[in-house]
Amino acid sequence: MKKRINLCMCLLAIATCIITFVATLTISYQTALARMETETMRQASLVAAGLEHIDALDSDEQQAYMQAVGKSDRSRVTLIEPDGTVVYDSNYDPSQMENHLERPEVEEATHNGKGESSRTSATLGQQTYYVAKLLSNGQILRVSNTTDLVSDDLQRAIPPLVLIIVLVIAFSVWLANYLTNRLVKPINTLKLDNPLENDIYEEISPLLHKIHTQNEQLQKQMDKMRHQKVELEAITSNMSEGMVILDKEIRILSVNQSAIRLLGSVSQDFAGQSLISLSRDQVLNRRANEAVKGKKTEHRMENQNGRQLQIFCNPVQVDGNVRGCVLLIVDISEKYAAEKSRREFTANVSHELKTPLTSISGYAEMISNGMARPKDVAGFAEKIHTEAGRLLVLVDDIIKLSQLDEKAPMTLQFEKVNLKKLLETVSNQMKDYADKKQVKIHVQAEDVIASGVPRMLEEAAQNLCSNAVKYNREGGNVWLRVTKHGDMAYIEVEDDGIGIAQDDRAHIFERFYRADKSHSKTIEGTGLGLAIVKHIAELHGGSVGVQSYEGKGSIFTMSLPQSSN
Ligand code: ADP
Repeated sequence: MKKRINLCMCLLAIATCIITFVATLTISYQTALARMETETMRQASLVAAGLEHIDALDSDEQQAYMQAVGKSDRSRVTLIEPDGTVVYDSNYDPSQMENHLERPEVEEATHNGKGESSRTSATLGQQTYYVAKLLSNGQILRVSNTTDLVSDDLQRAIPPLVLIIVLVIAFSVWLANYLTNRLVKPINTLKLDNPLENDIYEEISPLLHKIHTQNEQLQKQMDKMRHQKVELEAITSNMSEGMVILDKEIRILSVNQSAIRLLGSVSQDFAGQSLISLSRDQVLNRRANEAVKGKKTEHRMENQNGRQLQIFCNPVQVDGNVRGCVLLIVDISEKYAAEKSRREFTANVSHELKTPLTSISGYAEMISNGMARPKDVAGFAEKIHTEAGRLLVLVDDIIKLSQLDEKAPMTLQFEKVNLKKLLETVSNQMKDYADKKQVKIHVQAEDVIASGVPRMLEEAAQNLCSNAVKYNREGGNVWLRVTKHGDMAYIEVEDDGIGIAQDDRAHIFERFYRADKSHSKTIEGTGLGLAIVKHIAELHGGSVGVQSYEGKGSIFTMSLPQSSN
């Protein structure tokens, strides 16, 4: 802008100078011309007056006067006879000159007594102004001046004029520069943050008001955007699901902490980087590419920590055009594990049910076909009864377990449970069974109140106690204990029975796992008892563990939260 104003002012100054120069020259020329014409007329009148006083017949006197006049002035003086013959010319030899009667000014003077004309002289070849006067003796006096004289005068004036103009232009350029700087300086130092505080040219005031209004609007929009950004960050940073927003070129616009954690990245700064820098999973990158082309996709993958991830890739459309995509990453490990265990459980249930059912079916078929001898029928019926009993126990355990599977800790009605009383009840319930197995049950408990569902805790203690009796020897012992430590209460079931091999210890809490295959056949069981105990302990916010010495016995410990009041 500064340059432009400067340039405009300079051009204006130069144009003004040139116009002034040309106008001055033209006016000066016109004025000089007019002055020269007036002067020529005045000279003609003077010389004519002089001639009128000389005797017309005395040509010598006339010649001498004319010569004197011709010498005394720059003007050309010509005396012409009435017939057109040139008698005298101050600039030229009259004998060489042609008849002048037809010269316009002469012709006009012959008729009107006075004539003038401006033309190129046939004699001298210069632009000339002529004035002719008719004398009383019939002769014609002609005085002329060339316009070249005027031009010469002007030409002499040109160099100083040019010098003045150059000086004026130089001064104008400097002045333009100085004025532009002064003009622009307040504009350059405008406080645009607070436009209304500026006190400069009145003409800029509407612009400043406009800037002020726009600043306010901009500020409001910025505040709104900042607010939305904070809101979005608050939402995404508190999400357990990962969220990644990508632009059309699969560059990361936003990524939350959960996404970084789930995808197993270490870096934190991903803004503007490609998705590949966040996850090297080729399929995920392919799915994201498909999403930015407008296709909704899904991808399931396992991260470095073995977590199962489900990733939903959704295109983001604005006005019908895909502008990018959003990846939602959900950790489905629990769901995946539950699905897997459900599948395994179903397979195991089918397998476990099949064995007693096959026996029952076989014996029943033999009886119905009449293949069984009458004396064997009672024995077969007994076996069918036993297998059916096993089946019932199995089905009962399966039902319990699936009921536990359905339950969530929040849905349980916790009560205060006196664990000492609970173990005494269990001991009484097991007494007949223990007596039959010749195992003694000892209760060594202090009064500890736990928070739990009494029926479930009893079920768990029963399972542990019945195992301690079941996997014991004749004359063996079972100790039921209750202890507490910190906020937790502990039910301990110890036996001096057969113990558990080290390899089996890690698996005995799994569903349908039975430790020693040799005694598994002789000792009845479903392999679900400890799984039920574990499930109950976990639903109560506790756990169960085992210490065991093969051939010496085992100690099962179940922890539970104590009742807070
Ligand atoms: P089961 O119906 O077979 O008893 P459990 O889930 O209760 O099923 O137990 C799983 C396995 O753990 C049993 O088959 C058994 O081998 C082993 N076990 C459980 N309790 C004891 C114990 N007190 N002593 C020795 N082994 C035990």
